[in-house]
Amino acid sequence: MCGIVGYVGDKQAANFLLEGLSKLEYRGYDSAGIAVYDGNHIRVEKSVGRLSALRDKIKDDMPKGTMGIGHTRWATHGRPSDRNAHPHTDCTGDFVVVHNGIIENYLALKEELIEKGHVFKSETDTEVVAHLLEEVYNGDFVSSVREVLHRIEGSYSLVFMSKREPDKLICTKQDNPLVIGIGEGENFIASDIPAIISRTRRTYILNDGELAVVTKDAIKITNRRGEPVTKKVFEVNWNAEAAEKGGYEHFMLKEINEQPKAVRDTMSQRIAKDGKSIVMNELKWDADYLNSFNKIY
Ligand code: GLU
Repeated sequence: MCGIVGYVGDKQAANFLLEGLSKLEYRGYDSAGIAVYDGNHIRVEKSVGRLSALRDKIKDDMPKGTMGIGHTRWATHGRPSDRNAHPHTDCTGDFVVVHNGIIENYLALKEELIEKGHVFKSETDTEVVAHLLEEVYNGDFVSSVREVLHRIEGSYSLVFMSKREPDKLICTKQDNPLVIGIGEGENFIASDIPAIISRTRRTYILNDGELAVVTKDAIKITNRRGEPVTKKVFEVNWNAEAAEKGGYEHFMLKEINEQPKAVRDTMSQRIAKDGKSIVMNELKWDADYLNSFNKIY
């Protein structure tokens, strides 16, 4: 799990990004980062450790700009480190992405992209998404992101930002959560409602395969085929504390109900696609070695 946020509007993005991430730290907190577009460049700041480490790092020189994305990480691929923290960028720094989930075919994509000359800076699965976007970019941000989505496999919530079309964020999801907060002259993206509830109570809850193009004045949602989707606004009428409990009466109830997903997320990487065998490639254990065990704790 991890937390992702996005902002596009008239106000300073970094303020919302840090505030929103602080409400999502329960989703993962081995490192954190933000990327803000300042009108010319995208500045990326990240730090291993809790969100407070990132706050300390930038407190005297906050990234300025009115559009940005942010992430608190819970590592699946690549140890917690500054380099592996999100957001991740392509070779040019023009494309930035934050990701919650796992890109299952990242190794094959990474090899292909390295062959084409892309230089990777992290050990994460996520970084392939940024380089792939650079590779397939056809002059149109939205259709290029769609092309990326055709190529990647796995579970994800993703938010993309690009210097080439600096008025919009693009977000999409598959098996992981994503909500859009509807503001006035500003819009918000987050993994979960607590991150946005202090700014707006009007939200769209994205479904799998939906893609949203979010500008400061509009939110356009389409399905996998690119057809417009008309969504109902979900009005959050819980208070902030209840929102953090995700609609459950108690945190314990929430955690109990989230157990199937937690177990599924933990196990899914270790079960082969056909469901018939267990994947533990890096252990390189053979049958003799396995037979030598007589107990498992
Ligand atoms: N798989 C990605 C990583 O390890 C994202 C993990 C997350 O959801 O925080 O960086």
